[in-house]
Amino acid sequence: MSSQPHIVLRWVVRRTRLPRVSLRCVDCRSESATIGEGRFRVNANGKLLDIWLLVRCVSCGRTSKLTVHERAPVRSFDPAELHGYHVNDPELVACWLLDPRLARRNRFTLDWTGAWRLDAPPAGFVEAWPVQVEVVFEDPVPVRPERLIAQGLGLSRNEVLRRITCDIPLRRPTSAGFIFTVTAGD
Ligand SMILES: [Zn+2]
Repeated sequence: MSSQPHIVLRWVVRRTRLPRVSLRCVDCRSESATIGEGRFRVNANGKLLDIWLLVRCVSCGRTSKLTVHERAPVRSFDPAELHGYHVNDPELVACWLLDPRLARRNRFTLDWTGAWRLDAPPAGFVEAWPVQVEVVFEDPVPVRPERLIAQGLGLSRNEVLRRITCDIPLRRPTSAGFIFTVTAGD
């Protein structure tokens, strides 16, 4: 009897919408803001540009600005990128919102609650254990492998701990791809 996995499944984690921004509102102290449709503000000062990404407090509607570029020379921009800021290109909005540099610079964290899903083919048909599963992240959603696996396989956390071997720690949140192996239940 071989212990090599017979079947390799592929799970994909992807966003269903843009995550919210956890950032304290200066007016109402709420800590949740939304990017909405996604809007940039571009301000030209001579040959320098300031560019912000706008977010709106979900509680009072106050608009705040997240600094994207500060006093950057116009000539340092790729024309296509600059055009993207002017037309609020949704891809550029997502790209910046999900860029950890923006979060660091503006001191916010992303709130992924309800903004992502796991696409996992059902493993119920599996007859030949063990099974190997490759988890791929299309978006940088931080998940606890233990929880994700429990959800994807419909197992309890205890069962996950008993039946799973994984190449990374099961309890530490990650948004980098990983692989795990499931052995047969009792
Ligand atoms: Zn507010």
